Amino acid sequence: AVRVRFAPSPTGFLHLGGLRTALYNYIFAKKHQGSFILRLEDTDQTRLVPGAAENIEDMLEWAGVNGTYRLLCCLLPHRYDNRCRNLSSVQVAQKLATDPKPAVRFRLEGETPAFQDLVYGWNRHEVASVEGDPVILKSDGFPTYHLACVVDDHHMGISHVLRGSEWLVSTSKHLLLYQALGWRPPHFAHLPLLLNRDGSKLSKRQGDIFLEHFAAAGFLPDALLDIITNCGSGFAENQMGRTLPELITQFDLTRITCHSALLDLEKLPEFNRLHLRRLVSEETQRRQLVGKLQVLVEEAFGSQLQDRHVLDPAYVERIILLRQVTVSDHLFPQHHISRLQDLVSPAHSYLWTRPAVGRAQLGAISEKVDVIAERVLGLLEGSDTSLTQDVLNRELKKLSESLEGIKHSHMMKLLRVALSGQLQGPPVAEMMVSLGPKEVRQRIQKVLS
Ligand code: GLU
Repeated sequence: AVRVRFAPSPTGFLHLGGLRTALYNYIFAKKHQGSFILRLEDTDQTRLVPGAAENIEDMLEWAGVNGTYRLLCCLLPHRYDNRCRNLSSVQVAQKLATDPKPAVRFRLEGETPAFQDLVYGWNRHEVASVEGDPVILKSDGFPTYHLACVVDDHHMGISHVLRGSEWLVSTSKHLLLYQALGWRPPHFAHLPLLLNRDGSKLSKRQGDIFLEHFAAAGFLPDALLDIITNCGSGFAENQMGRTLPELITQFDLTRITCHSALLDLEKLPEFNRLHLRRLVSEETQRRQLVGKLQVLVEEAFGSQLQDRHVLDPAYVERIILLRQVTVSDHLFPQHHISRLQDLVSPAHSYLWTRPAVGRAQLGAISEKVDVIAERVLGLLEGSDTSLTQDVLNRELKKLSESLEGIKHSHMMKLLRVALSGQLQGPPVAEMMVSLGPKEVRQRIQKVLS
């Protein structure tokens, strides 16, 4: 049976590279009805970062890539001269008398075994001559990563080790340990590096590769899983919009190539937009989005919400439904919606708060403020929310044609400012549909008084 593990060291918060390793393990396990284990390798006690273990677990849960378990390590190899390798028992006793906390090293002997990596093919790394005998038990009593990893993988019955390619060279050492312990090693599949689009390393110092950054910024877990599987290999083809169940059925380990995966984070909003639309189209998901947007509106505008009706689920839902498909988005990037958060950006504040627009400001656009306002109010008289953008456009056009000396463009500009306080934005009729006739009437009435 397939049994895999994601084994991060809790020496930092979960980032995109880690998520990718976890995800590939997870979808491989699910594809083969196997198990996925999260193993926290915490043997290097000096490098533990407070909160990292919790962050890794929380973020995996957030991403929908979960499993459980806990254990061990990570220590980078140094070159060691094997000076204690051939000590006599007397010398050992003397050393122990002065240093009662010895480390235990693994005597690397014999030929390093070659192995067939499922991604990189045949491999063999001359570890003995390069690194010297590695420490396997440290003087603090903790095993090093290498021993812990081998012992845990064996005892957990791990069938396949899918991990970052930076561990490829350690594998020979691990195989020697398996040999010495008389155990059968698992299969190994090393995943190529995840890099920026320009081939540079994803830097952990730029906070924006950590999952919590994406979660806080309102990106959907599905969008992240989608973008990281689209830039790598493991699938017959790249395709935007796949969800976790689809990733599971379409994943094929034999399709992972050793080319680095180039991640273009600038495309993330596009991925997010696609997944947001999918969620909006599913009723239960949409209801959850409504709840989230209510919270965002309250956070962003709480004290300025003169009219709390904007928090009504029906209003919030209408905004979500209308705003996700606006045609004008590409013209006004600030009105582009790819995340729920974008709906509370300054460009969208008009949806939630009434603009403060002065009479003088409107008068500068057209001298006929009152006439226009009165006629538009007349137009909206008795109308309900069924007024469509097309109907409004037609009626507004007719209206301006019937008004002597008033240019259509001036009338529209005036309405735009009266409704939103902004000079640019989505088409006026679209804003009117979003706000609904009642709110539109109130905003226009304010112009008159
Ligand atoms: N603890 C190692 C890491 O942080 C895990 C390597 C492995 O998967 O064996 O990357």
